[in-house]
Amino acid sequence: MNLPMVNENGYYEIRLESIGGLGANLCGKMLGELGAVYMGLNSASFSSYGSEKRGSPVKAYIRWCSDSIDIGINSPVENPHILGLFHEAMIGKMSVTAGVTEDTKVIINTASSPDDMRQRLKLYGGEIFCVDALKIAMESKTRINMVILGAIAKASGFIPLDMTVDMVANTIGKKYPELIKNNIEGVKRGYNETVSKFFEADGKYEKVDYEEVKNRWGYDNAPVGGINTRFGSTVSNDLSASREGYIPLFIQEKCINCGLCDTTCPDMVFQFKPGEYKGKPAMVNSGLDYHHCKGCLRCVEVCPTKALVAGNEREHSNPKWFVRNKDLIAEHMEFEDTGANSWVTSDSYMDERRIDGGIV
Ligand code: SF4
Ligand code: SF4
Repeated sequence: MNLPMVNENGYYEIRLESIGGLGANLCGKMLGELGAVYMGLNSASFSSYGSEKRGSPVKAYIRWCSDSIDIGINSPVENPHILGLFHEAMIGKMSVTAGVTEDTKVIINTASSPDDMRQRLKLYGGEIFCVDALKIAMESKTRINMVILGAIAKASGFIPLDMTVDMVANTIGKKYPELIKNNIEGVKRGYNETVSKFFEADGKYEKVDYEEVKNRWGYDNAPVGGINTRFGSTVSNDLSASREGYIPLFIQEKCINCGLCDTTCPDMVFQFKPGEYKGKPAMVNSGLDYHHCKGCLRCVEVCPTKALVAGNEREHSNPKWFVRNKDLIAEHMEFEDTGANSWVTSDSYMDERRIDGGIV
């Protein structure tokens, strides 16, 4: 197969930006296999990730070239022909669009339009492809990476859908034959339900160069005291970028205050307070502080009364939730679509302790 465009080294390059748990690493490996085994190209794929835990940043790199050229480098992809963004919460927190040029096709998992996304990404130029991968994955009972794979095939303009489907069927089918149908549906829907728009580099936003070294801290540029100010740390107090699109919703009327959620939650999200239950003094579950929630949904699994249910974060992202004001929280306690009344409490005991000068 002939590649439609290549860089000065003869490579067609793809970069995937994601967080651990969304399957970008596997998606990268599958694209590597697609190039080498199915498209007759020389192909390389590798990923870069830290502690291999859910929610931590992951990058996957794929290089393709004609079989007459050797792939002699294994450095990160700086100016990708295709950039896949698995999670829109990363926008503004990491320079995920660094190195994008007018020739880049940017695929993003979002329910928003390409115009909205250009503004949010402050994208210099290029073609934006939007696909609601989370919704499709939930409906098709597949994973986000399969939907993004289909969207990449569509955006490329040269990767045949049937070849992509064959590769998925053969790869997944070896180990999990029962998952083939749903995964293929995810790939096909990603291909067919992606919407796109091209934006010229009109000077509205600046080009951002890819400079890995800028993101590193050393003795001369680390914050005072060596604190970690990035999202997810105790300083920024925001785990939203670690979530995969799901949040637990709390239906207080069903809660029996058993405390199983609190015992299970690894991040102290539940706020129990002295109160009254069935006419007796008790510690009462008064809600969740989403600042600390990483969306693992373990609490949903253990709740014996279904007082906790899984929700699509996008459908419950009223910014007023995140205002630390009791009156506003009271206004937003009713959510008719699920019957859940989850909110961000203004009085997280972790915060109180911080304000009081730390845990004593
Ligand atoms: S596990 Fe369910 S019922 Fe028990 S305290 Fe938590 S939300 Fe309430
Ligand atoms: S999903 Fe539930 S268990 Fe997981 S971090 Fe959030 S509140 Fe805790």
